Amino acid sequence: MTIRTRFAPSPTGCLHVGGARTALFSWLYARKHGGDFVLRIEDTDLERSTQESVNAILEGMEWLGLDYDEGPFFQTERFERYEEVIESLMMKGVAYRCNCSRERLDSLRDEQMKRKEKPRYDGRCRERDIAGDEPHVIRFRNPDEGDVVVDDLIRGRMFINNRELDDLIIRRSDGSPTYNLTVVVDDADMNITHVIRGDDHINNTPRQINMLQALNLPVPKYAHLPMILGDDGARLSKRHGAVSVMQYKEEGYLPDALLNYLVRLGWSHGDQEIFSTEEMIELFELEGVNKAPSAFNTEKLQWINQHYLKQHDARHVAIQLAPHLNQRGLEVTVGHHLQAVVEAQRERAQTLEELADISLFYYRDFDEYDAKAAKRALKPEAIEPLNAVKAALAELDGWSRESLHAAVAGVVEQLEVGFGKVAMPLRIAVTGGAPSPDLDLTLSLVGREATLRRIDQAIAGIERSAR
Ligand code: GLU
Repeated sequence: MTIRTRFAPSPTGCLHVGGARTALFSWLYARKHGGDFVLRIEDTDLERSTQESVNAILEGMEWLGLDYDEGPFFQTERFERYEEVIESLMMKGVAYRCNCSRERLDSLRDEQMKRKEKPRYDGRCRERDIAGDEPHVIRFRNPDEGDVVVDDLIRGRMFINNRELDDLIIRRSDGSPTYNLTVVVDDADMNITHVIRGDDHINNTPRQINMLQALNLPVPKYAHLPMILGDDGARLSKRHGAVSVMQYKEEGYLPDALLNYLVRLGWSHGDQEIFSTEEMIELFELEGVNKAPSAFNTEKLQWINQHYLKQHDARHVAIQLAPHLNQRGLEVTVGHHLQAVVEAQRERAQTLEELADISLFYYRDFDEYDAKAAKRALKPEAIEPLNAVKAALAELDGWSRESLHAAVAGVVEQLEVGFGKVAMPLRIAVTGGAPSPDLDLTLSLVGREATLRRIDQAIAGIERSAR
């Protein structure tokens, strides 16, 4: 049997961290078993669903590399099919029309609450024969007795007594089908074998199983993923900062790093933290998913991101860094220079945004120095070494790391001072105080003209403030 999983987002917002993790686990399970991963857009809530959200979800999945074998299917294109299934439930006598008024349902609910009972529809319309041309909803006739058994691959076996469930509305008075009906029809029509979804749907599962059974359809296996909490213990939401996957892209996270972080949100394999996508596919097991909620931890995400920034091929990082630099008004292209900058700077940054910030000086002069660094290094006694080193650098034929190193060493010797007396002001003059690698590497990447210009600028600045 081919394993078939699905991701079934409602397009009422962006692809958020929780949704992305659900998609990832479903995708991994299909990939691991050589199965199919289906994307289904649950857009029956016409008021809240938007094309913008559909696009955002597709964009997020593409960025993360979660490719699907079938879909996207749109539920709004399947209304006829849902209607057909509702009809057949009516024919079988397991669905019925109900015209109970809002007032009746409200007072029923109030009475039940007063008696400390769980509010549920009392089935009054089950035996009433309501004509099709009267305003009505259609309800599924839930069995009265017995237990529904849910064999959850994460939580184990659960029994839910049918007395806990009531007759669910499957078609609204405007004729539109409801979530539990469309999910049942689609999971069956799409031959889904494993429903992997957030545990906020766990209460729907026994109802869906009852409907599948009433339709004589096979019941898929279920796996409910524990929720994700923010650092304050509440369910992860916008309050906790970035939740949209694309916002992580903007903030300079690499897709592999986010995937790696997401896979560890609720799943573990020993104490391993770093997983390539291939490894995730090989090692992922639903049995390894925790039952308890997991907490989102931005520091850990940053740590993983830095790991990928350091490990990836420099060209791969450069391709992703370039847009962040260009957003800052530069026009860099991906090539040897940018790759060398990536290699020089990447240990010092946790995100592409940080990497862009600390790499600007390679491309652009600056008006301001880091105040502390300038105070320490750009003092009147730095003028002599700066002039001397400028003269030495100006005379150089080439601009290789070796010749730069030799030129600086020559000035140190000539002035009979410690290396730092020359190197420190020179470094601050050229970088403005941004984190930077070895001096000769820094100078070689900044280039001759900018280096000489910035030395002049630093000297002029010292002279100005000494006056
Ligand atoms: N459309 C539902 C949601 O976005 C998911 C339904 C399901 O996975 O069964 O929450």
